[in-house]
Amino acid sequence: MYLYEHSGDGKAFKCLLCPHECVINPGKTGICRVRENDGSGIKLTTYGVISGYASDPIEKKPLYHFFPGHRILSVGSYGCNMRCDFCQNDQISQHGRQSECMTISSEELALRAQLISGNIGLAYTYNEPSIWFEYVIDCASAVKEQGQFNVMITNGYVNKAPLKEYLNFIDAFNVDLKGFNEDFYRKYTGASLKYVLDNLVMIANGGRHLEITTLIIPGLNDSADLMSAEARWISKSLGPEVPLHISRYFPRYKRSDPATPLETIIKLSDVASEYLDYVYTGNLPADIGGSNTSCPSCGKVLIKRTGYETKNTGLTYEGRCSVCGTKIISSDHVKI
Ligand code: SF4
Repeated sequence: MYLYEHSGDGKAFKCLLCPHECVINPGKTGICRVRENDGSGIKLTTYGVISGYASDPIEKKPLYHFFPGHRILSVGSYGCNMRCDFCQNDQISQHGRQSECMTISSEELALRAQLISGNIGLAYTYNEPSIWFEYVIDCASAVKEQGQFNVMITNGYVNKAPLKEYLNFIDAFNVDLKGFNEDFYRKYTGASLKYVLDNLVMIANGGRHLEITTLIIPGLNDSADLMSAEARWISKSLGPEVPLHISRYFPRYKRSDPATPLETIIKLSDVASEYLDYVYTGNLPADIGGSNTSCPSCGKVLIKRTGYETKNTGLTYEGRCSVCGTKIISSDHVKI
């Protein structure tokens, strides 16, 4: 698969990794700040460069229906192909490679994932991992070879050919669906919604585990109509069983508006629940709730969550409701 091609007089190259398809002159990087024309092609400047490294509960990704209660070694780097002015991770996402940074080879990282007791694999997260293509693929193939799992937390803004390659190695995705409106995407992220929607369908059709997160920003994407349209689309195009996490915004990066009111998150969660089986709220105080997994058929609470702590209160090892037998989670994604 080709990740770039010649453009114009041959000194510039066009990057084919994401829909921006940046034409990059020698010595320059694309919009993501990490893919550079070195004179002979476009190279990843952050191969093996790690900005964040932690063993996290998988609930923190957030993934609630993929090995709930387990931990996953999580890594991130620098850069992003979106320019959200509400970015919650701008210290790493809106910068390129830093002069002082930790580097870890793909073999070493996979080995570390294997040696942590109870760890299920590797999560590519924190900044946008789809632009880290060469490193993610090398790590992910090593992780698969050792019988573990790969997880990607992404904005979903990637071209079809590289996504197809990711689907060969990534077992579970959480895709940020930042709003259900093309104008919102153009104005506040510098990207286009239609590619993200197409990729969500491709991931679901590819048989990979999929969850979605939408960050609610007051006055930008917090209308009930927008959430209703988003939830209806998810239900119809991906399936009502795809979990949706509705997350509370806090002022960061270029935005100083106050945090999203709790009532807004709860109201939008109720709206989405009319169409979807599993709607969760995120970034709320622990006593507000909204993070338990309940059976959509009989209402039994199956997994209780307090912060990132989980307690199984009724999910069988086959991933079913212990009361009515409804399938909740794939039996392959319950216990290792
Ligand atoms: S991955 Fe980076 S360089 Fe390539 S098209 Fe996207 S933003 Fe541009």
